[in-house]
Amino acid sequence: MKYSDLCIYYERLEETTKNLEMRDIVAELFKEVSSDELEVIALAAMGRIYPSSVDKDVGIAGKLMQKIISRAYGATQKEVVEKFKETGDLGKTAEYFCRNKRQRSLMKKDITVEKVFRNLRSLSETVGSGSEGRKEGLVKELLVSAEPVEARYIVRTTIQEMRIGVGEGTVRDAIAKAFGVSSDKVEDAYFKLIDYGKVARIAKEEGEEGLEDIEIEVGRPLMVMLAERSESLEQAFGEYENVALEVKLDGFRGQIHKDGDRITLFSRRLEDKTEQFPEVVEWARECLKPDRCIIDSEIVAVDDSGKPLVFQNLSKRIQRKYDIERLKSEIPVQVNCFDLFFVDGENYMEKDLRTRWKKLCEIVKEKEGKFRLVEHIETDDLEEANKFYQKALRENQEGLMVKNLDASYQPGKRVGYWQKVKEVMEPLDLVIVEGIWGEGKRSNWISSLMLAVRDPDTGEFLKTGKMATGMTEEEFAEITRKMEDLIVKEEGRRVKVRPELVVEVGYEEIQKSPKYKSGYALRFPRMIRFRYNKSPEDADTIERLKNLYNKQK
Ligand code: AMP
Repeated sequence: MKYSDLCIYYERLEETTKNLEMRDIVAELFKEVSSDELEVIALAAMGRIYPSSVDKDVGIAGKLMQKIISRAYGATQKEVVEKFKETGDLGKTAEYFCRNKRQRSLMKKDITVEKVFRNLRSLSETVGSGSEGRKEGLVKELLVSAEPVEARYIVRTTIQEMRIGVGEGTVRDAIAKAFGVSSDKVEDAYFKLIDYGKVARIAKEEGEEGLEDIEIEVGRPLMVMLAERSESLEQAFGEYENVALEVKLDGFRGQIHKDGDRITLFSRRLEDKTEQFPEVVEWARECLKPDRCIIDSEIVAVDDSGKPLVFQNLSKRIQRKYDIERLKSEIPVQVNCFDLFFVDGENYMEKDLRTRWKKLCEIVKEKEGKFRLVEHIETDDLEEANKFYQKALRENQEGLMVKNLDASYQPGKRVGYWQKVKEVMEPLDLVIVEGIWGEGKRSNWISSLMLAVRDPDTGEFLKTGKMATGMTEEEFAEITRKMEDLIVKEEGRRVKVRPELVVEVGYEEIQKSPKYKSGYALRFPRMIRFRYNKSPEDADTIERLKNLYNKQK
Protein backbone atom coordinates (compact mmCIF):
# COMPACT_ATOMS: atom_id res chain seq x y z
CA MET A 1 0.00 0.00 0.00
CA LYS A 2 1.20 3.48 -0.79
CA TYR A 3 1.78 5.50 2.38
CA SER A 4 -0.18 8.37 0.86
CA ASP A 5 -3.24 6.10 0.62
CA LEU A 6 -2.92 5.23 4.31
CA CYS A 7 -2.66 8.94 5.09
CA ILE A 8 -6.06 9.53 3.46
CA TYR A 9 -7.50 7.19 6.09
CA TYR A 10 -5.54 8.93 8.85
CA GLU A 11 -6.96 12.27 7.79
CA ARG A 12 -10.49 10.91 7.75
CA LEU A 13 -9.94 9.47 11.23
CA GLU A 14 -8.54 12.70 12.51
CA GLU A 15 -11.64 14.54 11.35
CA THR A 16 -14.07 12.50 13.43
CA THR A 17 -14.40 11.81 17.13
CA LYS A 18 -17.30 9.40 16.79
CA ASN A 19 -16.34 5.86 17.79
CA LEU A 20 -18.60 4.10 15.32
CA GLU A 21 -17.42 6.21 12.43
CA MET A 22 -13.83 5.53 13.37
CA ARG A 23 -14.52 1.82 13.54
CA ASP A 24 -16.09 1.90 10.07
CA ILE A 25 -13.20 3.80 8.53
CA VAL A 26 -10.67 1.38 10.01
CA ALA A 27 -12.79 -1.60 8.86
CA GLU A 28 -12.81 -0.18 5.33
CA LEU A 29 -9.03 0.13 5.48
CA PHE A 30 -8.63 -3.47 6.67
CA LYS A 31 -10.83 -4.73 3.86
CA GLU A 32 -8.84 -2.87 1.24
CA VAL A 33 -5.46 -4.42 1.95
CA SER A 34 -4.04 -7.89 1.31
CA SER A 35 -3.48 -10.44 4.09
CA ASP A 36 0.25 -9.80 3.98
CA GLU A 37 -0.19 -6.09 4.41
CA LEU A 38 -2.85 -6.46 7.07
CA GLU A 39 -0.38 -7.44 9.80
CA VAL A 40 1.35 -4.09 9.62
CA ILE A 41 -1.74 -2.06 8.75
CA ALA A 42 -3.54 -3.23 11.92
CA LEU A 43 -0.69 -1.76 13.95
CA ALA A 44 -0.39 1.31 11.73
CA ALA A 45 -4.06 2.07 12.35
CA MET A 46 -3.15 2.71 15.99
CA GLY A 47 0.08 4.46 15.05
CA ARG A 48 2.04 1.59 16.60
CA ILE A 49 5.29 0.36 15.19
CA TYR A 50 5.35 -2.93 17.08
CA PRO A 51 2.74 -5.11 18.73
CA SER A 52 2.36 -4.17 22.39
CA SER A 53 4.22 -7.19 23.70
CA VAL A 54 7.40 -6.25 21.87
CA ASP A 55 9.63 -4.33 24.23
CA LYS A 56 11.30 -2.07 21.67
CA ASP A 57 11.61 1.64 21.54
CA VAL A 58 12.54 3.74 18.52
CA GLY A 59 14.29 6.17 20.84
CA ILE A 60 13.41 9.45 19.12
CA ALA A 61 11.92 12.06 21.39
CA GLY A 62 10.80 15.64 20.76
CA LYS A 63 14.17 17.37 20.77
CA LEU A 64 15.86 15.02 18.32
CA MET A 65 12.80 15.09 16.09
CA GLN A 66 13.00 18.87 15.92
CA LYS A 67 16.59 18.60 14.76
CA ILE A 68 15.70 16.04 12.13
CA ILE A 69 12.87 18.21 10.77
CA SER A 70 15.16 21.20 10.50
CA ARG A 71 17.84 19.21 8.68
CA ALA A 72 15.40 17.46 6.37
CA TYR A 73 13.82 20.69 5.18
CA GLY A 74 16.66 23.18 5.50
CA ALA A 75 14.97 25.24 8.20
CA THR A 76 16.80 26.60 11.23
CA GLN A 77 16.22 24.96 14.60
CA LYS A 78 14.81 28.22 15.88
CA GLU A 79 12.21 28.30 13.11
CA VAL A 80 11.22 24.72 13.92
CA VAL A 81 10.91 25.46 17.63
CA GLU A 82 8.75 28.50 16.91
CA LYS A 83 6.45 26.63 14.60
CA PHE A 84 6.18 23.86 17.18
CA LYS A 85 5.22 26.39 19.85
CA GLU A 86 2.54 27.74 17.55
CA THR A 87 1.07 24.38 16.49
CA GLY A 88 1.87 22.29 19.57
CA ASP A 89 2.28 19.40 17.16
CA LEU A 90 5.55 18.22 15.64
CA GLY A 91 3.63 16.43 12.89
CA LYS A 92 2.02 19.66 11.70
CA THR A 93 5.37 21.40 12.12
CA ALA A 94 7.00 18.92 9.75
CA GLU A 95 4.07 19.25 7.35
CA TYR A 96 4.51 23.01 7.26
CA PHE A 97 8.22 22.89 6.50
CA CYS A 98 7.73 20.13 3.97
CA ARG A 99 5.25 22.31 2.10
CA ASN A 100 7.55 25.32 2.19
CA LYS A 101 10.88 23.59 1.88
CA ARG A 102 13.92 25.36 0.59
CA GLN A 103 15.68 22.27 -0.60
CA ARG A 104 13.93 20.51 -3.45
CA SER A 105 14.40 16.80 -3.37
CA LEU A 106 15.77 15.34 -6.56
CA MET A 107 14.89 11.80 -5.71
CA LYS A 108 11.17 12.13 -5.18
CA LYS A 109 9.46 8.76 -5.23
CA ASP A 110 6.35 7.18 -3.79
CA ILE A 111 6.84 5.74 -0.32
CA THR A 112 5.06 2.58 0.75
CA VAL A 113 3.73 1.68 4.17
CA GLU A 114 6.20 -1.15 4.18
CA LYS A 115 9.12 1.22 3.60
CA VAL A 116 8.01 3.54 6.40
CA PHE A 117 7.77 0.63 8.82
CA ARG A 118 11.06 -0.86 7.69
CA ASN A 119 12.85 2.39 8.43
CA LEU A 120 11.06 3.01 11.73
CA ARG A 121 11.72 -0.51 12.96
CA SER A 122 15.38 -0.13 12.05
CA LEU A 123 15.50 2.76 14.51
CA SER A 124 15.16 0.46 17.48
CA GLU A 125 17.98 -1.74 16.18
CA THR A 126 20.25 1.30 15.86
CA VAL A 127 22.24 1.54 19.06
CA GLY A 128 25.75 2.36 20.21
CA SER A 129 28.12 5.10 19.18
CA GLY A 130 27.04 7.16 16.20
CA SER A 131 23.53 5.83 16.46
CA GLU A 132 21.96 9.28 16.64
CA GLY A 133 23.31 10.15 13.20
CA ARG A 134 22.12 6.86 11.74
CA LYS A 135 18.71 7.31 13.29
CA GLU A 136 18.49 10.77 11.84
CA GLY A 137 19.36 9.31 8.42
CA LEU A 138 16.55 6.78 8.59
CA VAL A 139 13.86 9.33 9.40
CA LYS A 140 15.28 11.96 7.06
CA GLU A 141 15.21 9.52 4.19
CA LEU A 142 11.45 9.24 4.67
CA LEU A 143 10.85 12.93 5.22
CA VAL A 144 12.65 14.10 2.09
CA SER A 145 10.56 11.78 -0.08
CA ALA A 146 7.32 12.60 1.70
CA GLU A 147 4.40 14.76 0.65
CA PRO A 148 3.41 17.27 3.36
CA VAL A 149 0.57 15.15 4.77
CA GLU A 150 2.81 12.08 4.80
CA ALA A 151 5.40 14.06 6.74
CA ARG A 152 2.76 14.84 9.39
CA TYR A 153 2.05 11.18 10.05
CA ILE A 154 5.60 9.90 9.68
CA VAL A 155 6.68 12.30 12.41
CA ARG A 156 3.74 11.48 14.63
CA THR A 157 4.31 7.75 14.26
CA THR A 158 8.01 8.15 15.00
CA ILE A 159 7.42 10.01 18.24
CA GLN A 160 4.43 7.75 19.02
CA GLU A 161 1.84 10.47 19.21
CA MET A 162 -0.70 9.77 16.51
CA ARG A 163 -3.58 12.02 17.58
CA ILE A 164 -6.15 10.10 15.54
CA GLY A 165 -7.84 8.49 18.51
CA VAL A 166 -7.66 4.88 17.34
CA GLY A 167 -6.99 2.51 20.21
CA GLU A 168 -7.17 -1.23 20.68
CA GLY A 169 -10.94 -1.16 21.14
CA THR A 170 -11.48 0.46 17.74
CA VAL A 171 -9.16 -1.99 16.03
CA ARG A 172 -10.85 -4.95 17.71
CA ASP A 173 -14.29 -3.80 16.56
CA ALA A 174 -13.02 -2.91 13.10
CA ILE A 175 -11.59 -6.41 12.61
CA ALA A 176 -14.95 -7.83 13.71
CA LYS A 177 -16.84 -5.61 11.27
CA ALA A 178 -14.46 -6.06 8.33
CA PHE A 179 -14.42 -9.86 8.46
CA GLY A 180 -17.83 -10.65 9.94
CA VAL A 181 -16.64 -12.14 13.24
CA SER A 182 -17.62 -11.28 16.81
CA SER A 183 -15.67 -8.68 18.77
CA ASP A 184 -15.42 -11.04 21.73
CA LYS A 185 -13.77 -13.71 19.63
CA VAL A 186 -11.35 -11.12 18.27
CA GLU A 187 -10.49 -10.06 21.79
CA ASP A 188 -10.05 -13.62 23.06
CA ALA A 189 -7.70 -14.27 20.17
CA TYR A 190 -5.78 -11.13 21.00
CA PHE A 191 -5.34 -12.31 24.58
CA LYS A 192 -3.55 -15.38 23.22
CA LEU A 193 -1.51 -13.68 20.49
CA ILE A 194 -1.04 -10.13 21.87
CA ASP A 195 -0.83 -8.85 18.32
CA TYR A 196 -3.82 -7.36 16.49
CA GLY A 197 -1.90 -7.69 13.21
CA LYS A 198 -1.84 -11.48 13.48
CA VAL A 199 -5.42 -11.59 14.78
CA ALA A 200 -6.66 -9.53 11.81
CA ARG A 201 -4.94 -11.85 9.39
CA ILE A 202 -6.49 -14.97 10.92
CA ALA A 203 -9.93 -13.32 11.02
CA LYS A 204 -9.63 -12.50 7.32
CA GLU A 205 -8.26 -15.85 6.19
CA GLU A 206 -10.00 -18.30 8.51
CA GLY A 207 -12.90 -16.43 10.10
CA GLU A 208 -14.29 -17.12 13.55
CA GLU A 209 -13.26 -20.76 13.54
CA GLY A 210 -9.67 -19.78 12.95
CA LEU A 211 -9.81 -17.39 15.88
CA GLU A 212 -11.25 -20.08 18.15
CA ASP A 213 -8.58 -22.57 17.14
CA ILE A 214 -5.62 -20.45 18.17
CA GLU A 215 -3.61 -22.59 20.52
CA ILE A 216 -1.57 -21.56 23.51
CA GLU A 217 2.09 -21.63 22.64
CA VAL A 218 4.66 -22.01 25.38
CA GLY A 219 7.12 -19.13 25.05
CA ARG A 220 4.54 -16.67 23.73
CA PRO A 221 3.01 -14.43 26.43
CA LEU A 222 -0.67 -14.57 27.35
CA MET A 223 -2.78 -11.72 28.65
CA VAL A 224 -3.07 -11.98 32.41
CA MET A 225 -6.13 -11.85 34.63
CA LEU A 226 -6.73 -8.64 36.56
CA ALA A 227 -8.47 -7.80 39.79
CA GLU A 228 -11.11 -5.29 40.79
CA ARG A 229 -10.80 -3.23 43.91
CA SER A 230 -13.13 -3.93 46.71
CA GLU A 231 -13.83 -1.43 49.47
CA SER A 232 -13.79 -4.03 52.23
CA LEU A 233 -13.16 -7.66 53.01
CA GLU A 234 -16.86 -8.18 53.89
CA GLN A 235 -17.95 -6.85 50.54
CA ALA A 236 -15.48 -8.93 48.57
CA PHE A 237 -16.25 -12.00 50.62
CA GLY A 238 -19.97 -11.68 49.99
CA GLU A 239 -19.57 -11.68 46.21
CA TYR A 240 -18.87 -15.35 45.66
CA GLU A 241 -20.33 -18.60 46.86
CA ASN A 242 -16.96 -20.29 47.21
CA VAL A 243 -13.99 -18.20 48.09
CA ALA A 244 -10.23 -18.54 48.10
CA LEU A 245 -8.16 -15.98 49.93
CA GLU A 246 -4.58 -15.28 49.12
CA VAL A 247 -2.02 -12.87 50.44
CA LYS A 248 -1.57 -9.99 48.02
CA LEU A 249 2.13 -9.58 47.66
CA ASP A 250 3.71 -6.38 46.50
CA GLY A 251 6.06 -7.23 43.71
CA PHE A 252 5.77 -7.73 39.99
CA ARG A 253 3.71 -10.11 37.98
CA GLY A 254 5.79 -12.91 36.54
CA GLN A 255 4.39 -15.19 33.87
CA ILE A 256 6.75 -18.14 33.69
CA HIS A 257 6.90 -20.37 30.63
CA LYS A 258 8.74 -23.66 30.73
CA ASP A 259 9.44 -25.59 27.56
CA GLY A 260 11.88 -28.34 28.46
CA ASP A 261 15.01 -26.48 29.41
CA ARG A 262 13.86 -23.20 27.95
CA ILE A 263 12.40 -20.79 30.48
CA THR A 264 10.88 -17.41 29.58
CA LEU A 265 9.64 -14.80 32.03
CA PHE A 266 7.13 -12.12 31.04
CA SER A 267 6.04 -9.07 33.01
CA ARG A 268 2.46 -7.89 33.45
CA ARG A 269 2.92 -5.75 30.36
CA LEU A 270 4.09 -8.93 28.66
CA GLU A 271 7.62 -7.78 28.13
CA ASP A 272 10.32 -10.42 28.14
CA LYS A 273 12.29 -10.06 31.40
CA THR A 274 14.04 -13.43 31.32
CA GLU A 275 17.56 -12.02 31.12
CA GLN A 276 17.05 -9.80 34.14
CA PHE A 277 16.27 -12.74 36.44
CA PRO A 278 18.72 -15.61 35.86
CA GLU A 279 17.95 -17.16 39.26
CA VAL A 280 14.24 -17.38 38.43
CA VAL A 281 15.17 -19.29 35.29
CA GLU A 282 17.26 -21.70 37.31
CA TRP A 283 14.58 -22.27 39.96
CA ALA A 284 11.81 -22.68 37.38
CA ARG A 285 13.83 -25.45 35.69
CA GLU A 286 14.27 -27.15 39.01
CA CYS A 287 10.90 -26.55 40.68
CA LEU A 288 8.35 -26.93 37.89
CA LYS A 289 7.83 -30.63 37.45
CA PRO A 290 6.09 -30.80 34.03
CA ASP A 291 8.10 -30.66 30.84
CA ARG A 292 5.95 -27.86 29.45
CA CYS A 293 3.84 -25.45 31.47
CA ILE A 294 2.88 -21.82 31.98
CA ILE A 295 2.28 -20.42 35.45
CA ASP A 296 1.33 -17.07 36.95
CA SER A 297 3.26 -15.67 39.89
CA GLU A 298 4.22 -12.61 41.88
CA ILE A 299 7.93 -12.00 42.22
CA VAL A 300 8.93 -10.03 45.28
CA ALA A 301 12.19 -8.61 46.57
CA VAL A 302 13.22 -10.07 49.93
CA ASP A 303 15.69 -9.09 52.62
CA ASP A 304 18.35 -11.38 54.08
CA SER A 305 15.86 -13.10 56.31
CA GLY A 306 13.51 -13.77 53.41
CA LYS A 307 10.97 -11.04 54.31
CA PRO A 308 9.36 -9.16 51.41
CA LEU A 309 10.54 -5.61 50.69
CA VAL A 310 8.63 -2.83 48.95
CA PHE A 311 8.36 -2.66 45.19
CA GLN A 312 10.81 0.18 44.63
CA ASN A 313 13.69 -2.14 45.32
CA LEU A 314 12.63 -4.44 42.59
CA SER A 315 12.13 -1.84 39.88
CA LYS A 316 15.91 -1.54 39.56
CA ARG A 317 16.11 -5.18 38.62
CA ILE A 318 13.22 -5.08 36.21
CA GLN A 319 14.60 -2.18 34.24
CA ARG A 320 18.31 -2.91 34.28
CA LYS A 321 19.89 -4.62 31.30
CA TYR A 322 23.48 -4.76 32.60
CA ASP A 323 25.20 -5.54 35.91
CA ILE A 324 22.67 -8.29 36.35
CA GLU A 325 24.85 -10.56 38.45
CA ARG A 326 25.64 -7.77 40.93
CA LEU A 327 22.01 -6.76 41.27
CA LYS A 328 21.03 -10.38 41.69
CA SER A 329 22.99 -10.57 44.93
CA GLU A 330 22.05 -7.03 46.04
CA ILE A 331 18.33 -7.49 45.51
CA PRO A 332 17.40 -11.13 46.04
CA VAL A 333 13.92 -12.19 44.96
CA GLN A 334 11.36 -14.84 45.68
CA VAL A 335 8.79 -16.36 43.34
CA ASN A 336 5.25 -16.88 44.65
CA CYS A 337 3.15 -19.03 42.32
CA PHE A 338 -0.60 -18.48 42.36
CA ASP A 339 -2.12 -19.67 39.10
CA LEU A 340 -1.81 -21.89 36.11
CA PHE A 341 -2.48 -21.47 32.37
CA PHE A 342 -1.23 -24.61 30.75
CA VAL A 343 0.34 -27.97 31.56
CA ASP A 344 1.73 -30.49 29.06
CA GLY A 345 -0.62 -29.79 26.18
CA GLU A 346 -3.64 -29.09 28.35
CA ASN A 347 -5.25 -25.64 28.55
CA TYR A 348 -6.17 -24.88 32.17
CA MET A 349 -7.56 -21.41 31.59
CA GLU A 350 -11.08 -22.70 31.05
CA LYS A 351 -11.03 -24.77 34.25
CA ASP A 352 -12.15 -23.35 37.58
CA LEU A 353 -9.73 -21.99 40.15
CA ARG A 354 -10.25 -24.96 42.46
CA THR A 355 -8.92 -27.28 39.75
CA ARG A 356 -6.14 -24.93 38.73
CA TRP A 357 -4.89 -24.47 42.29
CA LYS A 358 -4.95 -28.21 42.98
CA LYS A 359 -2.92 -28.86 39.86
CA LEU A 360 -0.53 -26.04 40.67
CA CYS A 361 0.16 -27.60 44.08
CA GLU A 362 0.97 -30.85 42.32
CA ILE A 363 3.38 -29.44 39.79
CA VAL A 364 5.36 -27.02 41.96
CA LYS A 365 8.18 -28.46 44.01
CA GLU A 366 8.79 -25.70 46.56
CA LYS A 367 12.28 -24.41 47.22
CA GLU A 368 12.48 -22.76 50.60
CA GLY A 369 12.41 -18.98 50.54
CA LYS A 370 12.92 -18.94 46.78
CA PHE A 371 10.19 -20.61 44.78
CA ARG A 372 6.92 -21.08 46.59
CA LEU A 373 3.17 -21.35 46.41
CA VAL A 374 1.41 -18.20 47.60
CA GLU A 375 -0.35 -18.43 50.99
CA HIS A 376 -3.83 -19.61 50.06
CA ILE A 377 -6.85 -20.60 52.16
CA GLU A 378 -10.35 -21.67 51.20
CA THR A 379 -13.01 -20.76 53.75
CA ASP A 380 -16.62 -19.65 54.12
CA ASP A 381 -16.02 -18.19 57.56
CA LEU A 382 -15.64 -14.41 57.55
CA GLU A 383 -13.93 -14.44 60.90
CA GLU A 384 -11.26 -16.80 59.70
CA ALA A 385 -10.90 -14.66 56.58
CA ASN A 386 -10.46 -11.57 58.71
CA LYS A 387 -7.77 -13.26 60.80
CA PHE A 388 -5.93 -14.16 57.63
CA TYR A 389 -6.24 -10.55 56.46
CA GLN A 390 -4.98 -9.05 59.72
CA LYS A 391 -2.04 -11.42 59.72
CA ALA A 392 -1.13 -10.34 56.18
CA LEU A 393 -1.28 -6.67 57.19
CA ARG A 394 0.83 -7.29 60.29
CA GLU A 395 3.42 -8.85 58.05
CA ASN A 396 3.40 -5.67 55.98
CA GLN A 397 1.79 -7.26 52.97
CA GLU A 398 -0.35 -5.12 50.71
CA GLY A 399 -3.58 -6.91 51.56
CA LEU A 400 -5.58 -9.84 50.26
CA MET A 401 -6.82 -11.22 47.00
CA VAL A 402 -10.33 -12.63 47.26
CA LYS A 403 -10.95 -15.06 44.42
CA ASN A 404 -13.94 -16.91 43.09
CA LEU A 405 -13.10 -20.60 43.31
CA ASP A 406 -15.65 -21.50 40.64
CA ALA A 407 -14.40 -19.07 38.00
CA SER A 408 -12.21 -19.75 34.99
CA TYR A 409 -9.10 -17.73 34.23
CA GLN A 410 -10.43 -14.61 32.48
CA PRO A 411 -7.52 -12.80 30.87
CA GLY A 412 -7.46 -9.06 30.57
CA LYS A 413 -10.98 -8.46 31.73
CA ARG A 414 -11.91 -6.86 34.98
CA VAL A 415 -14.92 -9.10 35.28
CA GLY A 416 -14.84 -9.37 39.02
CA TYR A 417 -13.66 -12.92 39.62
CA TRP A 418 -10.75 -11.58 41.63
CA GLN A 419 -10.95 -8.71 44.08
CA LYS A 420 -8.18 -7.00 45.91
CA VAL A 421 -8.69 -5.75 49.42
CA LYS A 422 -6.31 -3.20 50.87
CA GLU A 423 -6.36 -0.73 53.75
CA VAL A 424 -8.62 2.32 53.46
CA MET A 425 -7.41 5.73 52.26
CA GLU A 426 -5.63 3.72 49.75
CA PRO A 427 -3.15 5.47 47.60
CA LEU A 428 -4.20 6.27 44.05
CA ASP A 429 -2.35 5.38 40.88
CA LEU A 430 -2.35 8.62 38.90
CA VAL A 431 -0.92 9.77 35.60
CA ILE A 432 1.39 12.77 35.25
CA VAL A 433 0.04 15.12 32.58
CA GLU A 434 1.94 18.36 33.20
CA GLY A 435 4.85 19.75 35.11
CA ILE A 436 6.46 23.03 36.06
CA TRP A 437 10.21 23.66 35.96
CA GLY A 438 11.49 24.54 39.41
CA GLU A 439 13.24 27.71 40.47
CA GLY A 440 16.48 28.38 42.32
CA LYS A 441 17.90 25.16 43.68
CA ARG A 442 15.34 23.17 41.78
CA SER A 443 15.78 24.89 38.43
CA ASN A 444 17.17 21.78 36.75
CA TRP A 445 14.14 19.77 37.67
CA ILE A 446 10.52 19.59 36.80
CA SER A 447 9.44 19.94 40.37
CA SER A 448 5.69 20.31 40.41
CA LEU A 449 3.63 17.59 38.82
CA MET A 450 0.02 17.78 37.69
CA LEU A 451 -1.76 14.51 38.33
CA ALA A 452 -4.79 13.07 36.61
CA VAL A 453 -7.30 10.25 36.86
CA ARG A 454 -8.54 8.31 33.89
CA ASP A 455 -11.97 8.61 32.33
CA PRO A 456 -12.48 5.18 30.80
CA ASP A 457 -15.40 6.39 28.67
CA THR A 458 -13.48 9.05 26.79
CA GLY A 459 -9.89 7.94 27.34
CA GLU A 460 -9.23 11.44 28.69
CA PHE A 461 -7.04 12.14 31.72
CA LEU A 462 -8.72 14.51 34.16
CA LYS A 463 -6.63 16.70 36.40
CA THR A 464 -6.90 16.32 40.12
CA GLY A 465 -4.16 18.40 41.66
CA LYS A 466 -0.48 19.25 41.82
CA MET A 467 2.15 17.31 43.71
CA ALA A 468 5.50 18.68 44.75
CA THR A 469 6.44 16.63 47.79
CA GLY A 470 7.48 13.16 48.72
CA MET A 471 10.26 12.94 46.16
CA THR A 472 13.96 12.62 46.82
CA GLU A 473 16.48 14.60 44.75
CA GLU A 474 17.24 11.41 42.88
CA GLU A 475 13.59 10.94 42.10
CA PHE A 476 13.19 14.52 40.90
CA ALA A 477 16.10 13.98 38.54
CA GLU A 478 14.66 10.68 37.36
CA ILE A 479 11.20 12.07 36.78
CA THR A 480 12.62 15.06 34.92
CA ARG A 481 14.58 12.77 32.61
CA LYS A 482 11.51 10.68 31.89
CA MET A 483 9.24 13.68 31.38
CA GLU A 484 11.61 15.46 29.04
CA ASP A 485 11.12 12.67 26.53
CA LEU A 486 7.36 13.05 26.72
CA ILE A 487 6.99 16.81 26.31
CA VAL A 488 4.36 17.79 23.78
CA LYS A 489 4.11 21.48 24.59
CA GLU A 490 6.11 24.09 26.50
CA GLU A 491 4.81 27.43 27.68
CA GLY A 492 7.25 29.34 29.85
CA ARG A 493 8.06 27.07 32.78
CA ARG A 494 5.03 24.91 32.21
CA VAL A 495 5.37 21.69 30.20
CA LYS A 496 2.61 19.47 28.95
CA VAL A 497 3.55 15.80 28.62
CA ARG A 498 2.10 12.77 26.97
CA PRO A 499 0.19 10.85 29.67
CA GLU A 500 2.54 7.91 30.16
CA LEU A 501 4.01 7.97 33.64
CA VAL A 502 2.04 6.43 36.45
CA VAL A 503 2.83 7.26 40.07
CA GLU A 504 1.37 6.02 43.30
CA VAL A 505 0.19 8.94 45.34
CA GLY A 506 -0.82 9.21 48.98
CA TYR A 507 -2.99 12.07 50.32
CA GLU A 508 -4.80 13.31 53.39
CA GLU A 509 -8.23 13.77 51.95
CA ILE A 510 -10.25 14.15 48.77
CA GLN A 511 -12.08 17.45 48.35
CA LYS A 512 -14.59 18.70 45.80
CA SER A 513 -13.01 21.30 43.57
CA PRO A 514 -14.26 23.21 40.54
CA LYS A 515 -10.66 24.10 39.75
CA TYR A 516 -9.85 20.75 38.22
CA LYS A 517 -11.61 18.97 35.43
CA SER A 518 -12.11 15.82 37.51
CA GLY A 519 -14.15 17.94 39.94
CA TYR A 520 -11.99 16.78 42.86
CA ALA A 521 -8.70 17.82 44.39
CA LEU A 522 -6.35 15.80 46.55
CA ARG A 523 -5.26 17.46 49.78
CA PHE A 524 -1.52 17.18 50.44
CA PRO A 525 -0.71 14.70 47.71
CA ARG A 526 2.65 13.04 48.17
CA MET A 527 4.65 10.71 46.01
CA ILE A 528 4.88 7.14 47.25
CA ARG A 529 6.64 5.55 44.32
CA PHE A 530 6.87 5.24 40.57
CA ARG A 531 4.60 2.65 39.03
CA TYR A 532 6.76 1.51 36.12
CA ASN A 533 4.85 -1.75 36.00
CA LYS A 534 1.65 0.11 35.16
CA SER A 535 0.51 1.69 31.95
CA PRO A 536 -1.81 4.72 31.89
CA GLU A 537 -4.71 2.38 31.15
CA ASP A 538 -4.11 0.83 34.58
CA ALA A 539 -4.36 4.16 36.39
CA ASP A 540 -7.25 4.82 38.73
CA THR A 541 -10.50 6.10 37.27
CA ILE A 542 -12.70 9.09 38.00
CA GLU A 543 -15.30 6.61 39.19
CA ARG A 544 -12.98 5.30 41.87
CA LEU A 545 -12.06 8.81 42.97
CA LYS A 546 -15.78 9.60 43.35
CA ASN A 547 -16.36 6.40 45.34
CA LEU A 548 -13.51 7.15 47.69
CA TYR A 549 -14.80 10.67 48.17
CA ASN A 550 -18.27 9.41 49.06
CA LYS A 551 -16.93 6.78 51.39
CA GLN A 552 -14.76 9.29 53.20
CA LYS A 553 -17.81 11.46 53.91
P1 AMP B 1 -2.96 -4.11 41.41
O1 AMP B 1 -1.57 -4.07 40.83
O2 AMP B 1 -3.12 -3.26 42.63
O3 AMP B 1 -4.02 -3.89 40.35
O4 AMP B 1 -3.22 -5.62 41.93
C1 AMP B 1 -3.16 -6.72 41.07
C2 AMP B 1 -1.78 -7.32 41.08
O5 AMP B 1 -1.49 -7.90 42.33
C3 AMP B 1 -1.59 -8.47 40.12
O6 AMP B 1 -1.34 -8.01 38.82
C4 AMP B 1 -0.40 -9.20 40.70
O7 AMP B 1 0.79 -8.69 40.16
C5 AMP B 1 -0.43 -8.82 42.18
N1 AMP B 1 -0.65 -9.96 43.10
C6 AMP B 1 -0.05 -10.09 44.28
N2 AMP B 1 -0.44 -11.19 44.91
C7 AMP B 1 -1.34 -11.81 44.12
C8 AMP B 1 -2.12 -13.00 44.23
N3 AMP B 1 -2.08 -13.80 45.29
N4 AMP B 1 -2.96 -13.29 43.19
C9 AMP B 1 -3.03 -12.48 42.11
N5 AMP B 1 -2.31 -11.36 41.97
C10 AMP B 1 -1.47 -11.01 42.95
